Amino acid sequence: MKRIVVLGAGESGAGAAVLAQAKGFDVFVSDFSSIKPKYKEMLDAHGIRWEEKQHTEADILNADEIIKSPGIPDKAPIIKKIKEKGIHIISEIEFAGRYSDSKMICITGSNGKTTTTMLTYHILKQAGVDVGLAGNVGNSLALQVAEDPHAVYVIELSSFQLDNMYDFKADIAILLNITPDHLDRYNYEMQNYVDAKFRILQNQTAEDAFIFWKDDPIIAREIAKRHPQATLYPFAENAADGVKAYTKDKKVIIETSNGTFTMEQDSLALSGTHNLYNSLAASITSKLADIRDENIRASLSDFAGVEHRLEKVARVRGVDYINDSKATNVNSCWYALQSMTTPLVLILGGTDKGNDYSEIEELVKTKAHALIFLGVDNTKLHSFFDGKVPVIEDARSMEECVAKAYKLAQKGDTVLLSPCCASFDLFKSYEDRGEQFKACVRNL
Ligand code: ADP
Repeated sequence: MKRIVVLGAGESGAGAAVLAQAKGFDVFVSDFSSIKPKYKEMLDAHGIRWEEKQHTEADILNADEIIKSPGIPDKAPIIKKIKEKGIHIISEIEFAGRYSDSKMICITGSNGKTTTTMLTYHILKQAGVDVGLAGNVGNSLALQVAEDPHAVYVIELSSFQLDNMYDFKADIAILLNITPDHLDRYNYEMQNYVDAKFRILQNQTAEDAFIFWKDDPIIAREIAKRHPQATLYPFAENAADGVKAYTKDKKVIIETSNGTFTMEQDSLALSGTHNLYNSLAASITSKLADIRDENIRASLSDFAGVEHRLEKVARVRGVDYINDSKATNVNSCWYALQSMTTPLVLILGGTDKGNDYSEIEELVKTKAHALIFLGVDNTKLHSFFDGKVPVIEDARSMEECVAKAYKLAQKGDTVLLSPCCASFDLFKSYEDRGEQFKACVRNL
C-alpha cells in the first residue's frame, strides 16, 4: 500500500488526508503546530492517524509522496530533509485534481483573488450551476472531491499552492495582476514569484482559456516570452486590439465566441477600477461557462462584496467608515485610494513587508488631510510621510485609532483603514484587525 504523508492539518491538509484515505492510501498527518479541534475531529472520524506539535521523521521520511500545506515554507527543516530524500512534494489541489474530471476555474494574482473568486462563484451559483468554492476560500477541493463533488469548481490559488502543482490543468485560468508580494518566500527574487504565478498556465491547450489583465507590464512581458497555448482573453479598462472585455461609453462589453455581453457600468455592485477588472474577469469566465446574459447582469449588480475589502461599515455624523483591512500591501491601498471620492482620514501601518510608499505618495497627498499610523513601530511611515500631510498621529490600539479618527474627520470625509501592511504586530490577523475596527466604529 502506498504511503501518503500530509504536512499541515488545516483546511487543505485535513481535506487531502480524507481524500487520500478514501482512495486507499496509508495516510499519516503531521503538523508542527497544534491542530484545530474541528480538523482533529475530521481526521478521527475517518480513522486517520495524526500528530501535532512535532514532526516524527521516522513516520514522514518513509512516504511515497508528501502533500504539503501552502503555509509551510521550503526552508522548514522537515522540507529540506524530504527534498534530500527525493520524495515528491505536491499541493492539495494537485492531489485532488487527480481524482476529478470537473471543470476547474482557477484564479490567481497578487491582489483581487478572493473578490474575483467569490464574484465568479456567486454568478455561477445564482445561475443554477452545480459549483463548488475551493482553494483559499470555502472547503478544500480535496474534501469536496471526496465527499461532495461538483461539476464545476471556482478555485482561488495562491503562489504557494501553485508552487507544488505539476499535472493539474485549469480549464479556465485567470491571472489578475502581478506586483511584488511574499518575496521572503521566494529568495527575494521577483522572477521566482512570477514563475510561480505562471504555473497556472501549465498543461493548458488551445481548448482552454487564459484570462488576464492586458495592461500589467509583467504579465505582458511573460506572455511574449512564454507563448501560452490556451486561447487568450485579455481584459482592460478601454478597448484595444485583441482585448475581449472592456468599457466603452459607460458600458461593460465582453466578447467571446458565445456572443457579446453588455451591461451599464453604473449597475456593477463593486466600485473602483480594481473591482472593474475583477468584474471583467468574472464576466468573461461566466460567458465561457455559458451563463445567460441576464443572469450575469443580475449577479454583477447584486453581489454583496467580501468582508474586509473596501467594506462600508457605517456612517457616523456624516463621516463614512470603510474597512479595507485586507489591503496588506501598497498596491491594494493604491486602488482603494484611487476609488475614494471624498477627503480622507487614512489609517496605515502594521508589519511592513518591505514597502515602498512612493507608489501612493501623490494619492495620499491629494486625498488625505490626516494620517493615523497604527502599529508597534511607525518609524518608516514617519520618515516617509512626515511633512507631506497636515496632520499625522500615532495609535497603538484600534480603540485609540478610531477615537483619533473620529476627532480628525469632518462631515463629508471618509475614514479609510487600508493599512498597506500585515497585521501581526497588534492583531491576530487581518480579519481580527477588521473586526476590531468595525466594533470600535459601531461603538462611536
Ligand atoms: P487577494 O485574495 O488576492 O488578497 P482580495 O480580493 O482579498 O485579494 O483583495 C485584497 C485587497 O486588494 C483589497 O484591499 C482590495 O481592495 C484590493 N484589490 C482587489 N482587487 C484588486 C485588483 N484587481 N487589483 C489591485 N487591488 C485589488
